Amino acid sequence: MSPVPLAGSAPTRARFSFEVFPARSGAAALALGHAVQHLSAAGPDFISVTYGANGSNRDASLDLLRYLRDHTDALPLAHLTTVGESRDAVRETIHRIMDAGVHDFLALRGDPPRGLDEGAPAVAGSLSSRELVELIAEARAERPPLTSVGRTSVAAYPNGHPLSRSRSEDIDWLVAKQEAGAQFAITQLFFRAEEYLSFVNDAQRAGLRIPVLPGLMPVSTSAQLRKVASLAGRPAPEGLTRALDEAGGYAPELGVEHTLELARELLAGGAPSVHLYTFNRHEQVLSVLRELELLTPDPVA
Ligand code: FAD
Repeated sequence: MSPVPLAGSAPTRARFSFEVFPARSGAAALALGHAVQHLSAAGPDFISVTYGANGSNRDASLDLLRYLRDHTDALPLAHLTTVGESRDAVRETIHRIMDAGVHDFLALRGDPPRGLDEGAPAVAGSLSSRELVELIAEARAERPPLTSVGRTSVAAYPNGHPLSRSRSEDIDWLVAKQEAGAQFAITQLFFRAEEYLSFVNDAQRAGLRIPVLPGLMPVSTSAQLRKVASLAGRPAPEGLTRALDEAGGYAPELGVEHTLELARELLAGGAPSVHLYTFNRHEQVLSVLRELELLTPDPVA
């Protein structure tokens, strides 16, 4: 059985979306402004903005969401985490984001802040992503009629959440998020198509009906590859590791090649679209989409 297509659409051509994160300096912000113009011109379903990831400033996420809304044609989607925040504070943030004209969310619990572990009261007492899905729905219902729009997505872990003891636990967790109202899911990074396809297949057998967008990142450096491997919870493919090392640790074309192959297998296997982690660069992800013949028109050409 193949994964379900995006609800309400019968795409003849696969779709795509992007993830960016707030810039950490003025120079990086300039480069990011340039990158998001190219990304937006490619016509993605949405561009998502990370929130507080790796200690980044949360206000900077809102600024970037506003920039996307005001200066691009792309639909901005806000990642939102609950870790270390009270229910009231999270509710207020949801309204601030909606006041900024952004109504689409990726509901997350978030990683423990530096220095705290999963057992710390500030972490263990945080709302779960399932509860956040419900809180976003409540906040939407508090908006004036006709402005309570938007979709809520959640994270999925094809290779298991780091704390998961079994695949069935991961699937139960994801189905619970669907039951709370999540409309689609985006996956953690992974390296092999089979990891996504078998996870979605098993989840659908267990009652998952929402689309699951595979998250992919074309790496440019050996350091990025190591980071992806730690997120994926699986070793990086040996051939890619070796080729990057032999190239001196920097070879964007190798990441593009690997992502392209993976995307082809995923789309052929029934994935509804691809969600590309851009690392705030447009060149590699647009190369992947160009090779997949998904760019019409091509914003760089
Ligand atoms: P929840 O589903 O709410 O789970 C909360 C906690 O429950 C987990 O941390 C864990 O303790 C436990 N748990 C969850 N699943 C299981 C399971 N199967 N078995 C046992 N225990 C479980 N983090 C950020 O800080 N900012 C971001 O912008 C961000 N963006 C992300 C985007 C994507 C697509 C993904 C996949 C992850 C992102 N993350 C981000 C990381 C995410 O916040 C962490 O993975 C976090 O540990 C869990 O968040 P969650 O929403 O999946 O948690």
